[in-house]
Amino acid sequence: MEVVSPFLEGLEMLEAAGGDVARLCYQCGTCTAVCPWNRVRYFSPRSAMHDANLGLLEIEDEKTWLCVSCGMCESRCPRGVKIITLWVAGRRLLAEMGAYPADLKATIGSLKAEGNPYGPKEKRAEWMQKHNLPKFDGTQDWLLFICCASIYDAKTEGMATAVAKLLQKAEVSFGVLTDTDVCCGESVRKTGSEELFASLAQRNIENFKKAGVKRIVTISPHCYHTFKNEYPDLDGDFEVVHYTQLLAKLIEEGRLRPTKNVGKLTYHDPCYLGRHNGIYEEPRRILSACGELVEMAETGEEALCCGGGGGRIWMETKKEERFSDWRVRQAAETGAQTLVVACPYCMMNMKDSVLTENLEEKLQVMDVAELLLEAL
Ligand code: SF4
Ligand code: SF4
Repeated sequence: MEVVSPFLEGLEMLEAAGGDVARLCYQCGTCTAVCPWNRVRYFSPRSAMHDANLGLLEIEDEKTWLCVSCGMCESRCPRGVKIITLWVAGRRLLAEMGAYPADLKATIGSLKAEGNPYGPKEKRAEWMQKHNLPKFDGTQDWLLFICCASIYDAKTEGMATAVAKLLQKAEVSFGVLTDTDVCCGESVRKTGSEELFASLAQRNIENFKKAGVKRIVTISPHCYHTFKNEYPDLDGDFEVVHYTQLLAKLIEEGRLRPTKNVGKLTYHDPCYLGRHNGIYEEPRRILSACGELVEMAETGEEALCCGGGGGRIWMETKKEERFSDWRVRQAAETGAQTLVVACPYCMMNMKDSVLTENLEEKLQVMDVAELLLEAL
């Protein structure tokens, strides 16, 4: 295996790319113990910290691309080490050389050419027309930001349309800018493509400002995370909520009234809603108003990642290494008929795993908004 550059030079390169976090590490090994990869294969963030401190991190090794940025390690690290930053630093060095894994190259190309990871940008305007959604014109209270996944992947389209229908039912004033929005850039940033992230973010920020946007409601926790925590560094200050927060408030205010019991449900916390942003209660309040909510193993702060963060949603994961397979089995063990998600990446992965684990007779996958719509 090739070593990026031995000793001091290697260390300096990693530090310049943001990998100086390794200096804080005192090698307790907690991160390796809690990292979900170790259920399916050996993977050691602790060793990576050790190697990084010696300037010996083998960034061209496949392991550089494994981290799903689930945040489990960071939530447990006694030294507060920003462990994800180390992986992203290694990826940044590779991204500068264009040394992406083969399956990520097409995604990066599409993001550069089309402004989204999936396909022709013209589909965005068509999608807005197909669903007859109002264009944001500066007079509405909210911009509803539709995640690229919901526009280009049929598995998650229903999440976005359910949110829009619920907002219309509750007479919330909102519009979309789907035709001019580009990808939020959260996941591509985790692949080390810092310049691409900055250019996508700048395009959205300029677009939002030009349209007079003040408040944004997102479908994806990944869009939520980057708008709320990362866009302010680029002069993009907006009030941002995830759709589960807004829907929970609309129920509290009596503007949405679930009346039907939709049965036994279990909820999977998305990493970028839960661990990264501390939003655990609002989705549960909505679900408790719709049916019988039962918790599965490893819930809330302990939630097992679906495997789609950190850009992994665009990379092939071997069947025997998919975390979502574990997750759907955990969901089925509760006896719930419905596994409820709140993130397009979770939706894609869980739907695939329900099929490949032969659970489609027992378990359906829905998102919080689809479920609430059914319960009205
Ligand atoms: S948990 Fe933190 S201190 Fe312990 S080995 Fe991992 S990075 Fe180092
Ligand atoms: S963020 Fe998640 S996948 Fe990445 S090293 Fe930490 S625990 Fe492992």
